[in-house]
Amino acid sequence: MSVQALHRRAYLGLDTARRDAAHFIDGAFTQGTTGKNWENRTPLDNSLIGRVPEGGRAEIDAAVRAAKAALDGPWGRMTVAERTDLLSAVADEINARFDEFLAAECLDTGKPYGLASHIDIPRAAANFKMFADTVKTLSTETFVMPTPDGAGAINYALRRPKGVIAVISPWNLPLLLMTWKVGPALACGNTVVVKPSEETPLTATLLGEVMNKVGAPKGVYNVVHGFGPGSAGEFLTQHPLVNGVTFTGETRTGEAIMRQAALGVRQVSFELGGKNPAIVFADCDLDKAIEGTMRSAFANCGQVCLGTERIYVERPIFDAFVARLKAGAEGLRLGRPEDPSTNLGPLISQEHRTKVLSYYRKAIEEGATVVTGGGAADMPGDLAQGAWVQPTIWTGLTDDASVVNEEIFGPCCHIRPFDTEGEAIRLANATPYGLAAAVWTENLSRAHRVAAQMDVGVCWVNSWFLRDLRTAFGGAKQSGIGREGGLHSLEFYTELSNVCIKL
Ligand code: NAD
Repeated sequence: MSVQALHRRAYLGLDTARRDAAHFIDGAFTQGTTGKNWENRTPLDNSLIGRVPEGGRAEIDAAVRAAKAALDGPWGRMTVAERTDLLSAVADEINARFDEFLAAECLDTGKPYGLASHIDIPRAAANFKMFADTVKTLSTETFVMPTPDGAGAINYALRRPKGVIAVISPWNLPLLLMTWKVGPALACGNTVVVKPSEETPLTATLLGEVMNKVGAPKGVYNVVHGFGPGSAGEFLTQHPLVNGVTFTGETRTGEAIMRQAALGVRQVSFELGGKNPAIVFADCDLDKAIEGTMRSAFANCGQVCLGTERIYVERPIFDAFVARLKAGAEGLRLGRPEDPSTNLGPLISQEHRTKVLSYYRKAIEEGATVVTGGGAADMPGDLAQGAWVQPTIWTGLTDDASVVNEEIFGPCCHIRPFDTEGEAIRLANATPYGLAAAVWTENLSRAHRVAAQMDVGVCWVNSWFLRDLRTAFGGAKQSGIGREGGLHSLEFYTELSNVCIKL
């Protein structure tokens, strides 16, 4: 299917005006009042998808007030059963419109259908379903206590919605990561105002249609498009009626948002950047380690927060590992999303490509051996205008090289040998980040021992990106604040109040 045909399919059933993205405020689509907008271009070939309105203070204020009114109105009065039925219907409707979501996401990001149809879109539906199921069976603690008069007292806890939640989301897994916040926020009875990434406005907009279709009360789910500083992102996180800010994105952006959310002392939940290690021991199952590391280094063109950019391999298998990962990387096919043989799409934008290529150059300046790749990818026809780079592997850099220490967020990794378990752990932990790690070993005791010493929020042993949504997810050190997932999400999306009754 051509990009043009994809394009049409992405907007199946939508009128032409809606090829442009729109804000979704109080149950209605609007272009807003700023008169400002920008071009949304696909990184596949840089062709125009449509225009996106930039929201200003007025749009943010309208969206936040609509969210507040919904809280105080019909949404706030719904029973848990009514609310969770509605969220299950959202999941069903995403699945019913799977092809539209898929095509829209792949246009915005350029990622392969094969990836988005297995990960992005099904996980978005699962995010609503799982949190709807989680809150159905919630219980809270009670404590009976003695009192001096002998009558006693009973304490019990109530979980109440936090209020209006600001959701600021990134571009790498746009619908998945946005619904990972919207799902639990709504399940807990909050309302949301979403500011999607400026790179990927389509699926958040489309979700507005889903909300209307399933009968979500107006104002429960709002979307305002725009940028960060001096734009919708900053205005949203500073709005006095916002009760909490949940953010996924770069660590530096997290610092800025934390300052903004400090006004009025709003709580934040942050999932931030990473520079994730993999440790590959000589006693691993090499086939599995190669398969997992191929995914963790190159999936989504390396634009996964959990992705591996540093690989430490025990010396006896170092050469074999490098040779096999090189063969794997050289077997990856770059191409159009709809082509079933495509493994790798482009980077998200020309701007990001410039950044990634600057690291490719820096690696050479810092003395790397380029095992494979190392530059821009030559693509045929229209794709030559897209944001393509070669999957790249380096060896030979010193531990202080910037390429080994800074998050690149591209399809690239550095491989370094190690000699002892202790050395591998020290190297893996030598970073200000602490999001994820992967450990490859067939030795059970070693697996437990090493996993327990990783300074990360998520440690995989003999796997990568294997996710049970009930588990805690988040980053240690500069990779985040707080944990979300399953019951852990309740800590952020509800206020726990204790009721003490003197008998
Ligand atoms: P980004 O930080 O550049 O942008 C994320 C969002 O923040 C966008 O919507 C942007 O418009 C908004 N924003 C920027 N400045 C803002 C401000 N001052 N106030 C309010 N909003 C603002 O991140 P990105 O480039 O979109 O995504 C890639 C980054 O996200 C990588 O660092 C990656 O590691 C990280 N990430 C982390 C996780 C995780 O779970 N830890 C998941 C995915 C991505």
